[in-house]
Amino acid sequence: MPKKSQLEKLNTEMLACTNCALRKGCTQVVPGAGNADAKILFIGEAPGKKEDETGEPFVGAAGKFLNEMLGAIKLKREDVYIANVCKCRPPENRDPLPEEITTCWPWLLAQIKIIEPKLIVTLGKHSMERFLPGFKISAVHGKAMRREIKGMGKQIFYTLYHPAAALYNGSMRETLIKDFKRIPKIIKKIEQEEKK
Ligand code: URA
Repeated sequence: MPKKSQLEKLNTEMLACTNCALRKGCTQVVPGAGNADAKILFIGEAPGKKEDETGEPFVGAAGKFLNEMLGAIKLKREDVYIANVCKCRPPENRDPLPEEITTCWPWLLAQIKIIEPKLIVTLGKHSMERFLPGFKISAVHGKAMRREIKGMGKQIFYTLYHPAAALYNGSMRETLIKDFKRIPKIIKKIEQEEKK
């Protein structure tokens, strides 16, 4: 089955998920969006108000900023895939709890296995911690790292600050933009390595 159909089937199943309490307090599950054949998978934290209303990830202020940064490296949302570690909006936009991230993990893992991205770009601390526990985002942002993840195998990760955190913080914003602009070089390097 093409990746697109596999992902559509998975995401339809996800819409019916009631595995944690978040589903009771939100409007709808936000599975993710984009290109099933994408080289890059962006993983954020959880839907916010706008995302909860529309069913699409990153459509609020942070999403606009993400779109701008994608544009700066000549990519559109349709070229990449965008998902979250938690698919349902936490009440009052609080951080997702570790147990909520754990309960939601099989969905994200299944998405990753279908998409098989060359690069996973984590957005923010909670997304980073799912894959790179024990690291500090201030130390690892802007660095590509190869890691073996249980159930996933080897994968290259690139850690970025969360666009919402960086949006109104001058120096973090500059750092995020600078890190983001390195993505094409990282992809190029991965593809060169693959050819060896
Ligand atoms: N922030 C996130 O982490 N994810 C979204 O989908 C929107 C805002």
